[in-house]
Amino acid sequence: MPRPIQATIHTTALRDNLARKRRAAPDARVWGIVKANAYGHGIERVFEGLLGVDGFALLDLQEAERVRALGWRGPILLLEGVFEQRDLESCSRLSLWHVVHCDEQIDMLASHKTHQPHRVFLKLNSGMNRLGFAPARYRAAWARLDALPQVDEISLMTHFSDADGPRGIAHQLEVFTATTRDLPGERSLGNSAAALRFGADSGVRADWLRPGIAVYGSSPDFPLHDLAHWQLRPAMTLASRIIAVQQLAPGDTVGYGSSFVADAPLRIGVVACGYADGYPRHCGTGTPVLIDGVRTRLVGRVSMDMLTVDLTPVPQAGSGSDVTLWGHGPRAAVLAIDEIALAAGTVGYELMCAVAPRVPFVVGE
Ligand SMILES: *Cc1c(COP(=O)(O)O)cnc(C)c1O
Repeated sequence: MPRPIQATIHTTALRDNLARKRRAAPDARVWGIVKANAYGHGIERVFEGLLGVDGFALLDLQEAERVRALGWRGPILLLEGVFEQRDLESCSRLSLWHVVHCDEQIDMLASHKTHQPHRVFLKLNSGMNRLGFAPARYRAAWARLDALPQVDEISLMTHFSDADGPRGIAHQLEVFTATTRDLPGERSLGNSAAALRFGADSGVRADWLRPGIAVYGSSPDFPLHDLAHWQLRPAMTLASRIIAVQQLAPGDTVGYGSSFVADAPLRIGVVACGYADGYPRHCGTGTPVLIDGVRTRLVGRVSMDMLTVDLTPVPQAGSGSDVTLWGHGPRAAVLAIDEIALAAGTVGYELMCAVAPRVPFVVGE
């Protein structure tokens, strides 16, 4: 028998989360964000659940090839655009739309030979200071692109740095609106947090939303709001089983460094999941875990292949019992990846992207 750990991708949850995003902005089209191998879920595994999107957005040409190989003939957008001249040949061949965020990318387009003009998304740096033209230089970049025979339609795009936090999006929205005021073209502004928190009533004209994390079932502004608040469901479950049980007496310790000391008799379960599976070692005693769908806590240190849990709330549990590290457990129990991320001092994004290659994946309901 293989090690009992397994990750499951939930097609229905992807569909439901996508429908939830659509309700937040019914008139907008939606990019399915599948960069980083669909946030660690696997492009091929999420494809069916995401078929309701209007296009797929990603970073790597290989990932674009994979989406085309699945039979997708609609839009695909390269979120960072091209990295070198010959990438444009792939864009022509695969009919990819691409972001243009710097002069070098315009230079490459100007010397690209193609019979099929490209659709581009011109990126404005409205304050995040990662990618994009500064406001003062944006309109000149637009005019340059507009004059190129290699360019078909120009869409306008920016990215918010604080959509999930107290600063919000107003300051960047103001810059975007002022800079693009009378420019023609479709607009693409918000990520998950922007769409959920400011979607319906922000007065933003957003033709193309870019929701990533929410579709995968992680709250973009946890712990301010949780999954239930946004009516989202986990699209990934990481599950395993108990492979051993130990009975501790008061004073006994568990695992490396003896970081946990029992102060009373305690039954603990040893779970086949460790940091080499992608479960964060930063999670300490108290991190929530579901055993047979019942919430309990991790005790002691996470090691490479195992972690240990308190079996007090589940006296009937033993070797072979079902363990949910995050996602959906038995009896409709849900453990949000956001809670594990918080315990590890990170965000759900990082955990889903970091499930280790040795963990087998299945696609389920
Ligand atoms: C990854 C990405 C998104 C999606 O962000 P989420 O926070 O996952 O919704 C949107 N836009 C751009 C440009 C991105 O790179």
